[in-house]
Amino acid sequence: MTLLLPTQKLLPTQRLLPTSTAGSLPKPSWLAEPEKIWSPWALEGEQLLEAKQDALRVSLQEQLQAGIDIVSDGEQTRQHFVTTFIEHLDGVDFEKRETVKIRNRYEASVPSVVGSVSRQKAVFVDDAKFLRSQTDQPIKWALPGPMTMIDTLYDGHYKSREKLAWEFAKILNQEAKDLEAAGVDIIQFDKPAFNVFFDDVNDWGIATLERAIEGLKCETAVHICYGYGIKANTDWKKTLGTEWRQYEQAFPKLQQSNIDIVSLECQNSHVPMDLIELIRGKKVMVGAIDVATNNIETPEEVADTLRKALQFVDADKLYPSTNCGMAPLSRQVARGKLQALSAGAAIVRKELSV
Ligand SMILES: [Zn+2]
Repeated sequence: MTLLLPTQKLLPTQRLLPTSTAGSLPKPSWLAEPEKIWSPWALEGEQLLEAKQDALRVSLQEQLQAGIDIVSDGEQTRQHFVTTFIEHLDGVDFEKRETVKIRNRYEASVPSVVGSVSRQKAVFVDDAKFLRSQTDQPIKWALPGPMTMIDTLYDGHYKSREKLAWEFAKILNQEAKDLEAAGVDIIQFDKPAFNVFFDDVNDWGIATLERAIEGLKCETAVHICYGYGIKANTDWKKTLGTEWRQYEQAFPKLQQSNIDIVSLECQNSHVPMDLIELIRGKKVMVGAIDVATNNIETPEEVADTLRKALQFVDADKLYPSTNCGMAPLSRQVARGKLQALSAGAAIVRKELSV
């Protein structure tokens, strides 16, 4: 079934409803303390390098065994999806820490911007090349978005969130181009901050995101979620009421942007599914796996979420996915959830093919 227009970029997967994950997957206990974010590495030096690659191989294998179509590194080589990228940049001092509120939600001690930010060399390209060498499946690589990066820093230099975001967008664009050259099929920018700072999103959030994808020929995605299943986030979600309409704020501008794919949290969230109508025309990674619970969805529950999404997304544009990263979950639970995602997508794929 091919419904793609000739002008659209083709993803190297033939399958309808190709499955993927939003990002991180649990790390083995020999690499880092499990079920934790910012978990310290269990090894160092050469041993750590080798262990990271081994973990990436295992994570890839688990995705393939579960039948995931668009695979990733499971973020096995990074401690955290934002800080690991920033650590490799000039202009940020990790010794000089200040306490700030992350996404207006929880306090954290964060590094300081002390001078002009720049990227001297590629950050993830070796890891991406390694992943590319391990599989012929389409691969997706996640990077933080400019707005999410500035939200995890204290800025003592630019003293302007917008200015710093433009600088990061430039750097992200350099990294994205290198990842594309390394054979990455989809580059995804993680923007949980899009659900919090609505004025900034519309004033310069989407513009800086477009700067980050400028000139890319591979597919691009933006992942907007309600965060990992950690307490600060689940407590915040309780304050959001019965209908979560946050997406409504950014969707009209996103719909007009050059981003190809929008990745959303849909399973067990209180997001009204009809909001997706606002990004009609975009490909949508529909989060059909809740990452904030250890309960493993049944394939039928996954299928049900996908069917609901199909009312607002054309079948050839629907990519079943997880709500967010699964780093804080146990490996066993994450494995079960990956299998449920695949099985649920298979049910709907079958329904669509008759
Ligand atoms: Zn997320």
